[in-house]
Amino acid sequence: MSQEPVLLPLDKELQERLHWLTGLRWIAGFAILAGIAMGPRLLGMPLPVVPLLAVALTLLSYNLVLYLKRRWIAATPARARNVAYLQIGLDWAALTATVYLTGGLSSPACLAYAFHLIIGAILLSRAACYFLACGVGVLLGVLAWLTPGGSLRTWAVLTLFFLVTTWLATSITARLRQKEDALSRTTLALDRSFQEMESLYNIGQLVNSTLDLDEVLRLLAEHTTRLFGVKACFVRIFDRDGKTLSIGGAYGLSREYIDKGPVDVGKSWVDFEVLKGRTIQVADVTEDLRFQYREEARREGLRSMLSCPMRAKDRTLGVLRIYTEEPRVFGAQEERLLLNLANLGALALQNARSYGDLQDLDRERIWFARMTHHQLRSPLAAAQGAIDALPYAGPLNEAQRDLVERAGRRIRDSFDTIRDLLDSAAAQRFREEEAAGPVRLDETLRRTLDTAREQAVSKGLTFKEVTEWEGCVVRADPADLEKIFSNLLTNAVNYTSSGGVVFGARHADGWVEAWVEDTGIGIGREDLDRVFEAFYRTQAARDSGAVGTGLGLSIVSRMVQRLGGTVSVESEPGEGSRFTVRLPSSNG
Ligand code: ADP
Repeated sequence: MSQEPVLLPLDKELQERLHWLTGLRWIAGFAILAGIAMGPRLLGMPLPVVPLLAVALTLLSYNLVLYLKRRWIAATPARARNVAYLQIGLDWAALTATVYLTGGLSSPACLAYAFHLIIGAILLSRAACYFLACGVGVLLGVLAWLTPGGSLRTWAVLTLFFLVTTWLATSITARLRQKEDALSRTTLALDRSFQEMESLYNIGQLVNSTLDLDEVLRLLAEHTTRLFGVKACFVRIFDRDGKTLSIGGAYGLSREYIDKGPVDVGKSWVDFEVLKGRTIQVADVTEDLRFQYREEARREGLRSMLSCPMRAKDRTLGVLRIYTEEPRVFGAQEERLLLNLANLGALALQNARSYGDLQDLDRERIWFARMTHHQLRSPLAAAQGAIDALPYAGPLNEAQRDLVERAGRRIRDSFDTIRDLLDSAAAQRFREEEAAGPVRLDETLRRTLDTAREQAVSKGLTFKEVTEWEGCVVRADPADLEKIFSNLLTNAVNYTSSGGVVFGARHADGWVEAWVEDTGIGIGREDLDRVFEAFYRTQAARDSGAVGTGLGLSIVSRMVQRLGGTVSVESEPGEGSRFTVRLPSSNG
């Protein structure tokens, strides 16, 4: 965190109060003018009008200059302080002249010194204020000597009065300043904590915005460097062996330094300690013997280092380090902030790793399904070939032919099951956004619809398309779309013995709606939800003699869900069914 200079209350006050002083001076100038007019009546003695007028006009003139130059004066604390001293000096001269011209020690204007001392107590330091009070004493002494009738006793009483006034005014302002100081320090600490929280929140959001492991670590390193205003940040994470720390992410370091090799925890004292859960500071990494790569650090221009463990769920996943160019001592607050960041990074790291593991598992599962498919297909195909060839091996009697046909049917069923299992595995795979581009439904489904038409017609059914293709564009893998609708259309043909099948599609309210309707056996109310379960087949479907595995609709449902859509069914037993798929349109 970059350290901003703190304006102490005294300086700040000085800048603000200079305006106030200028305002007061207008009053003082006009008070002298009023005094000239009313003085003789109040004091009972004639006043030297011209000299007093000269004092008043001088006071008002320099006040005008100060007023016009107020922005320039307040621009820097040092300038404001110097001008304050100058103003006070000028004011004192004006006041002393006024006191002298209005009767010396017996003039009521004498009391105005008290106002000056109070103003001094507010604007200046305690010592400067006592210095002014002594100055008043000296000035009063000179006045007592210069003016006729000035007595030593009056001088002593007035001097004592002004000293007491100074003591009171400085004590009160000192207490007020202490309080203000404490308040501004608390406000500062609060501001810092707030900034810290905000930064943590922002960095947390950033590193959690991606599940790409390298990107998570790179973002963590970059934003930690920026937040601390340091030269570089290095994230090292444990290899699977748990003994070596490898490069996770880095920011502000040269390729040469980054590639200097993995850290053997056994040899690196700093990392060894950090991994025990401690936060370690090294004042100079080029000198400290506990630091492993001193020479490389010197070449890189690194100086001080702060390092802390990255922990998530009681496990240390790595180490987060920051480096400065200049020697720097990190405060407890900075240590705490880095630790919080490290833990935040550890959580993001864990999420990214878990996601990566899941993807690996998923790939393995699909590979396993494909391999099983392949391995089972070949022997089954061989068995199928052998059964098909049996009639050619010699005449079969009725019972043997029946057995061979049943065996053939069983093998075909097995083929279907294997194919559907493979589709089911594919339907469960992770959503890979980049694979899915916007596709037009009419182009993608043309072949599927033609095949369905052929199947329907060959079974003596009608096949109709009620489509408004305009706007029917969705973000999907074309193979998935084909799979979804070929399943629904094949079912419609399979479970319908008379009448026909209708396919419809349209675009409405940001959705693409497509449906498959038939006049088949229908589905009972109690089965409507269950038909989407894997391996579930209704009794009516079994009785119809249609061959099936009970997997098609579960595949449809998963694929549609993965595309962010829905699938629903309405049906009346004996009258027909209508399956409706709704997918988010990517056509706006
Ligand atoms: P399969 O058709 O291979 O048995 P599906 O998962 O595709 O498996 O369908 C599950 C069950 O839903 C079917 O067995 C059948 O009972 C019912 N079903 C699906 N489509 C229809 C339809 N168009 N008409 C009547 N029943 C259907």
